[in-house]
Amino acid sequence: MKLIIFGPPGAGKGTISSFISKEFKLNHISTGDLIRNEVKSNSELGERMNEIITTGNLLPDDMMLELLKKQLPKDNFILDGYPRNIEQAKELEKITNMDKIIFLVVAEEEIINRLTKRTQCSKCKKIYGKNFPPKDPKVCDICGEEVISRSDDNEEVIKHRIDVYDEQTLPLEDYYLDKMISIDANRKVELVLTDVKKALQ
Ligand code: AMP
Repeated sequence: MKLIIFGPPGAGKGTISSFISKEFKLNHISTGDLIRNEVKSNSELGERMNEIITTGNLLPDDMMLELLKKQLPKDNFILDGYPRNIEQAKELEKITNMDKIIFLVVAEEEIINRLTKRTQCSKCKKIYGKNFPPKDPKVCDICGEEVISRSDDNEEVIKHRIDVYDEQTLPLEDYYLDKMISIDANRKVELVLTDVKKALQ
């Protein structure tokens, strides 16, 4: 199965993908995590990437395509964070055909509320939220490494990321209409997850 999970920042793409990837035995390919790993490695490329992601803008399409091609398996994956615009969708189509697109629909007030409270493990990438925090706010429950806030999760950058999403990413809704499964993601993770699983079975 080849899936895309799509939706605005804070829709729960990373959280839902990590559950779905375990349940359906899929590789979870998150372009955001790939970028943050490159940034963490302190490479020259990572530094350039960091300058862009901290503004909330998208990385250039050619840079993203190169990163994706290195990591994308032939089958059995859930792609989280790619494509982010029509151009990227066309490039992806040249590599592979997707089976389904899961669209997590969420209201803007909820996005800001969630993202200003979100943290993530710097190592295993486990995501924590206001309703599911780690036992110790700075330590990951799973691997014991440091839990941090993302540099792009502050209100000003979040608002810009929403604008970028509306202008560049949202047009993908029409592009993928025939394969799209829309899910109300304003609700608790468990409820969203139940609907996503039902739609995939
Ligand atoms: P995410 O973790 O998916 O929210 O991504 C964090 C940031 O990484 C985004 O705000 C972009 O700056 C960058 N990014 C992730 N995926 C892509 C992509 N497919 N194209 C361009 N930039 C991306």
